[in-house]
Amino acid sequence: MTPIQAPKGTFDILPPDAERRSILESHARRILGAAGYQRIETPAFEATELFARGVGEATDIVQKEMYTFDDGGGRSLTLRPEGTAPVCRAYVEHGMHKLPQPVKFWYQSSFFRAEAPQRGRYRQFWQIGAEAIGAAGPAADAELIVLLAELLEAMLVKGLRLRIASLGNPETRARYREQLTAYLRAHEDALSLDVRGRIDLNPLRAFDATDPGTRAVMQDAPKLLDALTPEDAEHFAEVRGLLDVAGLRYEIDPTLVRGLDYYTRTVFEFTSDALGAQSGVGGGGRYDRLIEQLGGPPTPGSGWAAGVERILLAGASPPVAPDPVDLFVALVRRGSTSATAAGDGAATRAAFLLAHEARRAGLSAQLELADRSLKGQLKQADRLGARYVAIVNDETQASLKDMAGGEQADVPIPTVIPTILRGSRLV
Ligand code: AMP
Repeated sequence: MTPIQAPKGTFDILPPDAERRSILESHARRILGAAGYQRIETPAFEATELFARGVGEATDIVQKEMYTFDDGGGRSLTLRPEGTAPVCRAYVEHGMHKLPQPVKFWYQSSFFRAEAPQRGRYRQFWQIGAEAIGAAGPAADAELIVLLAELLEAMLVKGLRLRIASLGNPETRARYREQLTAYLRAHEDALSLDVRGRIDLNPLRAFDATDPGTRAVMQDAPKLLDALTPEDAEHFAEVRGLLDVAGLRYEIDPTLVRGLDYYTRTVFEFTSDALGAQSGVGGGGRYDRLIEQLGGPPTPGSGWAAGVERILLAGASPPVAPDPVDLFVALVRRGSTSATAAGDGAATRAAFLLAHEARRAGLSAQLELADRSLKGQLKQADRLGARYVAIVNDETQASLKDMAGGEQADVPIPTVIPTILRGSRLV
């Protein structure tokens, strides 16, 4: 029979990789926790309408990339493609606007997008995200940016670049959009088919295009940064000032467009030149209208999400040492029937209990489960780097071997754990 494989664009997280992810998670907990961000987790699927309303009908994510299904009862559900709309939904649903503001969250969750898979781009991927809801000022934006920079630095992400911009408010953007649409129409012949087809739907995405024709046109296109209101321009200037104070280097990129519609004012993105085509490591921005759009009270917000796989691809976390094993509990096979399989039930129970009690006493202990010969068991203990091996002979006695020194002594089973805890030599 043909073995079944994981679906295209998904991957297994095998033990060494899982360990690196735990390290990333502990850095996130430390860095974000110290700034008052608390862990939140939302469901893996939500009402489709949350993303249609929150992320925006015209975005690539909503138009092409969502895994949407009927729940069997006529409700349309979607595997979450991003984390901000769900966190805002939770904020509104649990009445968190009544708490002292801002409410600051972080998460590490998996997300789903039906994209063409390649290195650094998957259909199920993980993001670490942070959101500060209920803070309108530029300090929240700058703090979030600085915290992401710290996390990326802690993970030794190479070749980092930070780009920032401001998208102003939706009214400025609407006016600017008309101006840009007129400009694109006037240069239609030089644009790619894809961009031409979306002039009315999403003209801003023309800045993301990679074909030379569109890029040349976009060089001279009107820029949103030149059209900001004085208040929005001041907010942006203050964010920059705070990043300067923190000594964080950035570039202002007037063409920075993010693939989600909910942003207002500050947007930013970290890229790494260690990543190739999919160079975005993490990004985010301010979303002052989103909560209202989701049916909540007018509430400002700001946040980011960073791709876990891309952090690990571009980072250089040191190899993780396996956890030490204090005790390996081996069993002597008697005759043809092995102790672990069937025979010698009393010794098996004694061995099982010894491993269990060792763990309860705070030691790391592994029991032979593979029915190996004694030689094979000692080899396995050696592979694991076990400090001691207890070879259980019967229900009362074990031979305790100190793997470092090589000494071995027959001892009553109840003395095994105290001996290891004392770390005392056997003879
Ligand atoms: P976004 O939610 O699109 O702003 O993405 C934020 C970050 O998530 C990006 O900078 C990437 O690091 C990561 N990311 C987004 N989409 C994918 C994907 N399909 N596969 C892997 N990582 C992704």
